[in-house]
Amino acid sequence: MRLSTVKVPHKKNTANSVPERLPIPKEVTIPVSMHIGRPAEVVVKKGDEVKVGQLIAKASGYVSAPIHSSVSGTVKKIDEITMSVGSRVKAVVIETDSKQELFEGIKPPEARDFQSFTKVIGESGIVGLGGAGFPTFVKLNVTHLDLVDVVIINAAECEPYITSDTRTMLDKTEYIFKGIEAIKKYMGVKRFIIGVEDNKPECVKKLGEFITDGSVEIKTLPSRYPQGGEKVLVYNTIGKMVPKGGLPLDVGAIVINVTTMAFIGEYMETGIPLVEKCVTVDGSAVKEPKNVIAPIGTPLKELFEFSGGFKSEPKKVLYGGPMMGISVPNLDVPVLKMTNAAIAMDEKEAAPPKTTACINCGRCLNHCPLKLDPRAIAKAYALDSGEDLKKLCVDLCMECGCCSYVCPAKRPLVQTNKLAKTVLRNYMKKKEEDKNE
Ligand code: SF4
Ligand code: SF4
Repeated sequence: MRLSTVKVPHKKNTANSVPERLPIPKEVTIPVSMHIGRPAEVVVKKGDEVKVGQLIAKASGYVSAPIHSSVSGTVKKIDEITMSVGSRVKAVVIETDSKQELFEGIKPPEARDFQSFTKVIGESGIVGLGGAGFPTFVKLNVTHLDLVDVVIINAAECEPYITSDTRTMLDKTEYIFKGIEAIKKYMGVKRFIIGVEDNKPECVKKLGEFITDGSVEIKTLPSRYPQGGEKVLVYNTIGKMVPKGGLPLDVGAIVINVTTMAFIGEYMETGIPLVEKCVTVDGSAVKEPKNVIAPIGTPLKELFEFSGGFKSEPKKVLYGGPMMGISVPNLDVPVLKMTNAAIAMDEKEAAPPKTTACINCGRCLNHCPLKLDPRAIAKAYALDSGEDLKKLCVDLCMECGCCSYVCPAKRPLVQTNKLAKTVLRNYMKKKEEDKNE
């Protein structure tokens, strides 16, 4: 048995670019929804003075995450902004004073046991930094610690262009291992596997230098996409298949992104919540691709300016990489907690492929890591058949884009799947309402 992967160009142009710190912007816009779950609740008001790391929005439910100020300055307004997915969310706009004064209350968190550890992780505002944005506290807060046989550290970073995790492995190796130590201490986990692609030999070497006992192993994986997809990674590291609709925990695993792990280690030492991100700025339209450390809430345009600006007019700009990234409507959109890349494409790179009719070759099905049938999903979507979409399990699609990538007819399969998921959600909602009438 093998989970299908595809070969994509790596374009890791910035792997050797040591992250540079962006000068503090004049203003940041920090949305209260940068995670999966309920938006955080704003706790500051216009005119309030804030400092770096100060709470500006508290978690508003179990699956939620607090938000902290990434700068020192004055709250200019509580605004409502449109996110790249089209939803409207509240955002705290802060005029910076460029002093970057740290909030007085910041100190290393006090953890004594599993409960207090997960509590402080929740307070740090950390969410999955690989792109998903699931609150890390919820992932760690398992009902029975005996269920966790292994923590798999996702260091695959398989999307073209992105190297921010690569830089974490090279520049924050110590903190990755401090994060591992914290999870060992408070959760009693005895086995850790770091899954890294074989196109990052320097990372493998550096990580190897920090291994002191048999509890941590490095698994070098072929550089194929989507090696970092959660289910693909679990299968390729421990040989177990996460059941359809299930979680890695169903096979005894927790998967944590490598930069999330480094954050845990650093936070346990400093107590500074999640306030800045290392972002890979690249793409065919960018003059000087580089890795940039920016306060959360910084407009993307500042990152591009800091990277020399554009060599030609960008026709498409993405949060994230070309396979799973989301198009942004303009360059004023802010760096979010899970922004690991800002990719600007020139006309040639952004040009949509010429689509032709499906030739029923079956490549999309054969290359889907989850064995979904994108061709059948597209037909069910065209017929608006919620029942068929349910049978075809479109809700499990991880939107990796492998099907679109291999399709010789260049059908927009992943885009159709995204729309089909909405059809299925509405269908299930209606079914539930009909049942309760
Ligand atoms: S986008 Fe969805 S359907 Fe297409 S290959 Fe990935 S998981 Fe499968
Ligand atoms: S890969 Fe494209 S052409 Fe082939 S069956 Fe799938 S949708 Fe049709």
